Amino acid sequence: MSDPPPNSEVSEQDRGVDTHNQMMRETRREKHDQYSLHEPIEVCIDKDNTPDGVVSSLSIILNTGGCRLARADGCTICGPVADSVDDDGVSHDALMNQIDFCIKYEQTVTNEPAELVKLHTPGSFLDEREVSVKSRQAIAETFADRNRIIVESLPEFVNTNTLRPFTAASLTTDIAIGVETATDRIRHDCLNKQLNFTDFQDACGEVCCIDAMTSENIDIGIKACLLLKPPFLSESEAIGDMVESVRRCAHIDGCHTVSINPAYVQQHTMTDELFHRGGYRPPWLWSITEVLESTRNVDAIVVSDLIEDDSDRGPHNCGECDERVQIAIEDFNRRQEPSVFTQVECECEATWAYILDAESSYAQPLTQ
Ligand code: SF4
Ligand SMILES: [Zn+2]
Repeated sequence: MSDPPPNSEVSEQDRGVDTHNQMMRETRREKHDQYSLHEPIEVCIDKDNTPDGVVSSLSIILNTGGCRLARADGCTICGPVADSVDDDGVSHDALMNQIDFCIKYEQTVTNEPAELVKLHTPGSFLDEREVSVKSRQAIAETFADRNRIIVESLPEFVNTNTLRPFTAASLTTDIAIGVETATDRIRHDCLNKQLNFTDFQDACGEVCCIDAMTSENIDIGIKACLLLKPPFLSESEAIGDMVESVRRCAHIDGCHTVSINPAYVQQHTMTDELFHRGGYRPPWLWSITEVLESTRNVDAIVVSDLIEDDSDRGPHNCGECDERVQIAIEDFNRRQEPSVFTQVECECEATWAYILDAESSYAQPLTQ
C-alpha cells in the first residue's frame, strides 16, 4: 500500500514570503472562471527536439486541480495559480476522460500517433494529490506504445516509486522540472517559488540512480525549465541570470535538455499587476537570441519555446522584426545552429543594447 499524500499545510509551512503570499491570495480571489474537469486545459500537436532528434509530439495540459504551492500562495508569474480547485482534486474518471479527449483530438488531426507525449499540469503530475497512483498507472499504460513521455513535476516527487508506472511500461521518460533559475535568491524573492537549486540537483541524482537500475532500453532524464526575466530584474540582469542558469543546469548529470521559457504576463498574477502599473516588460526577443548564442557550447539541448501570441504580454521586439526573430529561434530549437541569428537584423537592436546598458532594477522598465 502506498503512503498517503503528504499534508500540504505541513509542506508549505514557513516556505513562503508573507507579503508575496498575501498578494497572491488576493489576486486569486479575483478569478471566478470555472473549467470542466473532464476536458484538458489545452491539447495540441507539436514538434520537439529530444535526445532522439526532432519528433512529433502530443502536448497536453491536464487539469489536475492546481499545485500545492498554488493552493497556499503561489508563484508571482503563474496563471494556473488561480485555477486550483477545492481540496478534493480531480477524480480518476475525470482525468481519464481528459486523456480520452486528447487521444480523440489527436486522431482527428493526424493519422500517425505522436512519438512523444508531453504531460503538463498546473502543478506536478507526480504529486499524488493531483494525479493518484491509479491514474498515473493507467496513463502510463495508455501511452506505453509511444517512444517517449515527458511529465512535469516539482523535484520533491521524483523517485523510484512515482516513476515505477513508466519504467514498468518500458517507457523512456523525462521529467520536466520548473527550476526557473539556478539562483535561489531570484527564485525565492522574485518568483516566490520556495524550492532550492539543490532540490533540482537531488532530482537529477535520483534519475541517474533509477536509470542505472532499469533496463538498457529505458532512459530516464531531466528537462530543466527556466524562466527568462522574472519580475524585479532588469533586462541585463535577466540575461546574466539565464546564461548562468543554463550553464549550471546543463552541467548536471541526468539533465539532457534545458528549456528557456520567456516570461509571459498571465492574468491574475502579481506580474500582471506590475505590468498594468508600468513596472514590468516581458523580455526582448533579442535577449532570447543572446542567451541561446551565449550558451551554444553547453553539453545539452537548449531550446526556447515561444507561446503563440503577438500581444505585448509575451516576449517582443519593436513589432517590425518579431516574426523573423521568432522564426530564427524556432529554427535554432530544431537545428541548434546559432548562425541562424546572424540572418536577422533590425534597427531596434540598438534600442535593446542601450537598455542593457542603461536600465537598472530600481528604474525599470525603460520601455514597454
Ligand atoms: S509556477 Fe508551478 S510551482 Fe509555481 S504556483 Fe504555478 S504550478 Fe505551482
Ligand atoms: Zn525590430
